[in-house]
Amino acid sequence: MLQDPEAVIPLIDGGTEGFKGQARVILPGLSSCFECSLDLYPPQVTYPMCTIAEKPRQPEHCIEYAKQVLWPKARPGDKFDADNADHLQWMFEQSEQRAKEFNIEGVTLRLTKGVVKNIIPAVASTNAIIAAACVNEAFKMATYVGGYLTNYYYFNAVTGCYTYTMDYQKKPDCLICGRVIFTFEMNPNDTLRTLMQELAEHDQLKLKKASLRGNGKSLFMQAPAALREATMKNLDLPLSELIEDGCKIDAMDPSLFAACAQIVVKFKQE
Ligand SMILES: [Zn+2]
Repeated sequence: MLQDPEAVIPLIDGGTEGFKGQARVILPGLSSCFECSLDLYPPQVTYPMCTIAEKPRQPEHCIEYAKQVLWPKARPGDKFDADNADHLQWMFEQSEQRAKEFNIEGVTLRLTKGVVKNIIPAVASTNAIIAAACVNEAFKMATYVGGYLTNYYYFNAVTGCYTYTMDYQKKPDCLICGRVIFTFEMNPNDTLRTLMQELAEHDQLKLKKASLRGNGKSLFMQAPAALREATMKNLDLPLSELIEDGCKIDAMDPSLFAACAQIVVKFKQE
């Protein structure tokens, strides 16, 4: 984790969703990161199954019905691909048919595509405002003509025009920037595969595709193929043959992006 301020490369991020947008400045290791605020994002819009199946009221409900109910029934084993024009056309026709039955208007091919791909419409003017905020921050950081944003700017023009700036705090137990050490108590005879399973099932970690380094060597690497091949045999070895009691292991996983989780394996005393 970077701690020397001279070595920090700032990250400026912006994002929009319709008439709402945000810009933020992240100093990796110093200020809060993306992961710190993930809990605060609202869950993705989903429609209750009873509405979709029994009482559709919106065109979206009919499209969801076609996707979740009609497709698996009519084309079992055929995986729906939202980028396939024939698949999309089929989905549109079925959704339109369903909408007719319930006197619902508004099912179009465009909306069908938006719903099945979870597309949120982009508003060019919102994009421009957020892009400008990001460029201003980059300009100030590069030239020191002004103080940079600490660290979160929010813009909302859904009704009226509202904005505020706040300092997002770091989450102490953040997986990415929190430097938490996770301890696993294992039997020395447990295999590396068992440890991998525990990492995958751990409530917070959920490392389903972990690569592990410890004791100065690669214990198991998912990629590249040659390294995976070479470390595959370790999966069935007892931990006591690979590491010592109290060994620190770095666990990398696609879900952690470039960061790695710190694991300590303690052997259970028999
Ligand atoms: Zn964080």
